Amino acid sequence: MIVTQRIDGKVRAERLVADVAAATSKFKAETGAAPGLCAVLVGDNPASQIYVRNKGRAAVAAGIESFQETLPATASEAELLRLVAELNADERVDGILVQLPLPKHMEPQRVIDAIDPKKDVDGFHVQNVGALWSGGLDRALVPCTPYGCLLLLRDLMPDLAGMEAVVLGRSNIVGKPMAALLLAENCTVTLVHSRSRSIPDLLRRADILVAAVGRAEFVRGDWIKPGAVIIDVGINRVAAGEGKSKLVGDVAFAEAQGIAGAITPVPGGVGPMTIACLLRNTLLAACRRRRMESVL
Ligand code: NAP
Repeated sequence: MIVTQRIDGKVRAERLVADVAAATSKFKAETGAAPGLCAVLVGDNPASQIYVRNKGRAAVAAGIESFQETLPATASEAELLRLVAELNADERVDGILVQLPLPKHMEPQRVIDAIDPKKDVDGFHVQNVGALWSGGLDRALVPCTPYGCLLLLRDLMPDLAGMEAVVLGRSNIVGKPMAALLLAENCTVTLVHSRSRSIPDLLRRADILVAAVGRAEFVRGDWIKPGAVIIDVGINRVAAGEGKSKLVGDVAFAEAQGIAGAITPVPGGVGPMTIACLLRNTLLAACRRRRMESVL
């Protein structure tokens, strides 16, 4: 009988934030300036407001200067592009984060590609995507969620070479960059999506399974290879009776017990790692822009 390990993303994220905070102090001592992160919020989506507030608070707690720019939902794309150009030129700002989703009349990739790639702390600019896929990890800013997943995996398995890794979901934010990172670690990577055939069979091959499909408990216990390490990225709100709701992942967590070797819980797994990696990227961007050795 396998005893399934619970991967504590909260504790790992706290350690990373502490490392970023220590490195930020060193950065300030050397440069006389703090790294700066600016979040751009367009419209009044309540979830986006909470995300931006949480990111700002986390930045300040790590010694990073936090700025916020807010535009109304009625702002034009041209206005947003002008704001991005101003932030590109602003010396106080090392990281620019345009909170998604944007209002429907805006083309997100056009806005993202207007960000100076050196300040693109979300890692979504086409130049950073290209650097990631072409083996230029030392030049790329890597998307925060998949990088956080990789750190959790590396803690468990310092050498991932040769492992069968299956990534469920192929979004630009999670699935594709996750696949690129695992490939860079010399895993054999399978990318599964809504048009894939025989999904349970594909998943049963996985020594490492990263689930980012956005469907509550989509992955069942009998799709899991005994001993597999599972990183559950999904965040799904489901009814919990008496008018209440709760968050669950993309993997049936209870069914995975006794089969998986290790699994991240939802919440408390990948989520905290995403913000910690955003802070890391901001500090990294600040160091690279000044051509400093990374202090992390
Ligand atoms: P997304 O953009 O909606 O992408 C979902 C992916 O899943 C797509 O590639 C889609 O395939 C695939 N898919 C959908 N239904 C499927 C099915 N029945 N069978 C196989 N594949 C299917 O989602 P995302 O932005 O990557 O996010 C995924 C989940 O992670 C969400 O729950 C989100 O809330 C969560 N998330 C968490 C964090 C965090 O910090 N923890 C960060 C980001 C996202 P196609 O491409 O073929 O449509």
